[in-house]
Amino acid sequence: MLRGRGSRRAPNVLCVAQRTGSLALSRLSGWPLLTDPATPLHIREIMSADTINLTADPNRVPHPAVTGDKPPLEILLCAPRGFCAGVVRAIDVVERALAIYGAPVYVRHEIVHNKYVVETLKRKGAVFVRELDEVPDSNAPVIFSAHGVAKTVPQNADARGLTTIDATCPLVTKVHREAEIHHKRGRHVLLVGHSGHPEVVGTMGQLPKGSITLVEDIDQIEALNPPAEQALAWVTQTTLSIDDTKHIVEALKAKFPAIHGPHKDDICYATTNRQEAVKEVAPRVDALIVVGSSNSSNSQRLREVAERAGCPITRLVLRAEEIDWDAFKDIRRLGLTAGASAPEVLVEEIIDAFAARFDVTVDQVSVTVEDMSFPLPRELRSEAAE
Ligand code: SF4
Repeated sequence: MLRGRGSRRAPNVLCVAQRTGSLALSRLSGWPLLTDPATPLHIREIMSADTINLTADPNRVPHPAVTGDKPPLEILLCAPRGFCAGVVRAIDVVERALAIYGAPVYVRHEIVHNKYVVETLKRKGAVFVRELDEVPDSNAPVIFSAHGVAKTVPQNADARGLTTIDATCPLVTKVHREAEIHHKRGRHVLLVGHSGHPEVVGTMGQLPKGSITLVEDIDQIEALNPPAEQALAWVTQTTLSIDDTKHIVEALKAKFPAIHGPHKDDICYATTNRQEAVKEVAPRVDALIVVGSSNSSNSQRLREVAERAGCPITRLVLRAEEIDWDAFKDIRRLGLTAGASAPEVLVEEIIDAFAARFDVTVDQVSVTVEDMSFPLPRELRSEAAE
């Protein structure tokens, strides 16, 4: 059985029914609503957006209950977890575009890195493409994903007369502008990030070839040989490990003392908060599950953070069906979080699957409450108002 429980160990351990949108838990699982919920702001935002359907999967098949006495399991839910403001906005962009233009709307790249979200939007009429040449000449809009795109992408779309809508997260756009400003001031830019990630491809593509160099890890710095005649600057991908990035930036400053850069780094609030929550929970549990896609950078980092914090079993899973139950059979405490692109319904599915096998109690460990939100792109705001 699932039951809510108040703080008993630390002030930041809060009753799950008060803090995790237990209306959604109750609605989806048939579990009783235990207390009057003071739903936190980030949950309220998600539930009031058009994305509400992503918190309720009508096709969800309940996991069969395991019969016999069930062993006890305490689940510590990390908070914040799951959708960030940039992901909520990107999904809203697709849904609003579908409402305004009708299906199909084309989306270049996965709008956010989560197959469940992508499949849900596909069912509503979104068509996902890798490149613009897969989009036919038509009046249907093309949406650019939350990760951002190189400058050539909107230029090519304009040349073809395509209607485009940019769902790039404003915090990624901020990094684009930083790189541009450094370039305009004559600085060579070092981008700390992971090769091949769409955000890195997009940020590299803000500047002419040869003006920006990718730095993937600290070992590369010794051999870095940027143009001697230019000043230097650094920017970062938004979804990196806080600790790794700190060390890389320290090494860059040590090798290039005059290098310019942001006050701290460009890692976004959502990545930071989710990693801090995992750091809080990981040392207290026997295992920790991150709900998210394997191609989601911030989800991968959460699993790594848990591992480095000493958690003996860490897994990144998209759905409950991926859980290797043998690995979890002897645990008594489980940490649970979700990457910034993973909807809460998938967290609930995981709890549901554990509740079928264990006598589950759920507490939430909250390091902060988020209240960030981003407005829709102007063209969707004005269309929506008509
Ligand atoms: S993880 Fe951060 S940068 Fe990426 S979409 Fe979310 S808020 Fe924006």
